[in-house]
Amino acid sequence: MINLKKIPPIDELLGLEEVNLLIDTYNRDFVVGILRHSVDEVRKQLRKVNNELSREEIQKIILTQMGESITRVTSGTLRKVINGTGVVLHTNLGRAPVSPGALNYLSEMAVNYNNLELDLVAGQRGSRYVHIEEILCRLTGAEGALVVNNNAAAVLLGLMTMARGKEVIVSRGQLVEIGGAFRIPEVMKLSGATLKEVGTTNKTYLSDYAETINEETALLFSAHTSNYKIVGFTQEVDLEQLVSLGRQVGLPVMQDLGSGILIDLSAAGLAAEPTVQDSVKAGADVITFSGDKLLGGPQAGIIVGKKEPIEAMKKNQLTRALRVDKLIIAALEATLLEYLCGNPQENIPVVQMLMQPPQELYEKARLLCNKLQAGPGKSGQLTARVVEVEDMVGGGAYPTYIISGYGVEIALAGMVLDQVARRLRLMQPALLTRLQDDKILISVRTLLHNDQDLIVDLMQSILRAPGAERSDL
Ligand SMILES: *Cc1c(COP(=O)(O)O)cnc(C)c1O
Repeated sequence: MINLKKIPPIDELLGLEEVNLLIDTYNRDFVVGILRHSVDEVRKQLRKVNNELSREEIQKIILTQMGESITRVTSGTLRKVINGTGVVLHTNLGRAPVSPGALNYLSEMAVNYNNLELDLVAGQRGSRYVHIEEILCRLTGAEGALVVNNNAAAVLLGLMTMARGKEVIVSRGQLVEIGGAFRIPEVMKLSGATLKEVGTTNKTYLSDYAETINEETALLFSAHTSNYKIVGFTQEVDLEQLVSLGRQVGLPVMQDLGSGILIDLSAAGLAAEPTVQDSVKAGADVITFSGDKLLGGPQAGIIVGKKEPIEAMKKNQLTRALRVDKLIIAALEATLLEYLCGNPQENIPVVQMLMQPPQELYEKARLLCNKLQAGPGKSGQLTARVVEVEDMVGGGAYPTYIISGYGVEIALAGMVLDQVARRLRLMQPALLTRLQDDKILISVRTLLHNDQDLIVDLMQSILRAPGAERSDL
């Protein structure tokens, strides 16, 4: 308490050269706001201090806090993160990294004007959706296509357009929370449709749907629950069966495909997952999936299907509220063109990461291991070796699905691992690793561009700077 009276008044602090330098560099209101906040914080801290401090010391504490706050706020909170986890679609790390080709196209469209809603042939107002509709139809075999903000929005729009005020039949086994707190029952409620659950958690038969259909039924709904598996005694109705039931009774079928892939990934050793084309072929009226999961594009909700429901969705006023920006349309168009006439295996990061041959992964791991040993390893504090690792697809697809890969296991003598991991997270760029058996594990599958060299630099600074030593040594 003895120190509180010594806190300099704001006016006096505002007269200091250090503070004026900050005011010249940044905006005055911003600096004054931070100064007031820092003084308040220091006041709180001083209440707990018993020894007497000088006025100069207190001033110095305030200025230091101020400097730290300004650095923190002005450097932003979004950071580049090196993904050493081997989880390809990491929901916490922004899911799919966008391809460099898509980025170039996006930036060209972003810094210039473009024909987003102008039909250049007719010289009249056009639709923003034409830029992706034909490509999507050609890729998937669908009659129509539409893109909205994300897959949750796509599901909402589909349900509302086709079943508002009516009933939708869904298998109980598919009523799951899909991650990111996306709950199909909640989305149903928002859409104004009434959910009719059929079957049990582990078993649903076609007869369960058939028996539930009545005059109020508007839609048969199927969710592809690839992010979890009920193992063992299970029964689900497949899409073809559901479509044939729908045709018999004159009801449309909608499928939430979740991850949505356009190419067969079984060549990469992954279990066969139904592609979007498979669902179109099976006859689903509406199919929805994400743009930033296995497709490897920007965040978007892609809807493909029969002409009639797609046109009805375009006319729904809700579409205006869910519409995608020109940047997303540009990135998505470029990504889809890569599938249509490019080389997705090489140019779409997510696909490339999943299809990398084991031999290439091994070579990458060996290279990283050598670099680490030649660099920071020289001190003897760091030892690294190449190991086999279990990578994952992630992102609500192939949940339990492990793909084997290679990585580098790093042991740091005399350091507390949790603290090292924390410091790596706080670096710029941040490095996210796995921890296993008291060692750091970096999978090379999810490393991009020059990440390898950055990792070597980060490790170097971890070894140079004190702070993570084992305290009992
Ligand atoms: C991921 C997922 C969603 C949500 O998609 P977003 O693009 O994140 O909105 C919905 N349904 C399924 C089956 C999913 O896997």
